[in-house]
Amino acid sequence: MKRLRSISVRRGPSHNVVSISSREQKGGRTAASLVPPNPSLEKLRAVAARCRACDLWKTGTQTVFGEGQASARVMFVGEQPGDREDLAGRPFVGPAGMLLDRALVQAGIDRDQVYVTNVVKHFKWVADERGKRRIHKKPSASEINACRPWLDAELAVVKPEVLVCLGATAAQSLLGRKFSVSRQRGELVHSELARYVLATVHPSSLLRMPDEKDRHAEFERFVDDLRKVAGLISSRGPSSTVTKLAS
Ligand code: SF4
Repeated sequence: MKRLRSISVRRGPSHNVVSISSREQKGGRTAASLVPPNPSLEKLRAVAARCRACDLWKTGTQTVFGEGQASARVMFVGEQPGDREDLAGRPFVGPAGMLLDRALVQAGIDRDQVYVTNVVKHFKWVADERGKRRIHKKPSASEINACRPWLDAELAVVKPEVLVCLGATAAQSLLGRKFSVSRQRGELVHSELARYVLATVHPSSLLRMPDEKDRHAEFERFVDDLRKVAGLISSRGPSSTVTKLAS
């Protein structure tokens, strides 16, 4: 029997929920019909807070929308909010976010130039065996698809010069299922999504490394990837060629 009683989970709003068109429900629900025309980030955030375009609103505490200024030059996209982000309602504020912040400082990227978000805006989790911890669960393709209109809207408002996919879920969602972060990490790839697009590991993967030496070495590699990003938004421009993605 599942023992979930010890986990306290706040539910999202039980009223004032934006409905989805019946056509979308038949063809796979998405948040597309919820995105207002010519929105600001504030407007998007307010509407997304009431989104129920997929079932993840039932497991997540609240919608965790992207954060940063509309004038940000770099957008970082991860997979989904984690436990801490879910409770705080803000992206990248947990241990992985703190690691990202440290790497940004070392790479010389001003936090004001950065917008952070996720391909999925609700936390998907399962309880651990003792029913005490919420364990991250990878979002499904249909959940990623349902949430994509929010990310597209964020991209349309922010129009980042550099788009950085953090981890395989974000990279494959935005750059195609054949994209391999381990093989193509740090490479500039051709994409309509932004002038410069690249992928690197998700900082949470560094936190999972058991060996401290490995973790330290991987962190340095991660900072190196971010230094490339810093170069792209400096007057130097790209120092490497752009790879065309396999179709
Ligand atoms: S995960 Fe995205 S599509 Fe699903 S309910 Fe949350 S905001 Fe809506």
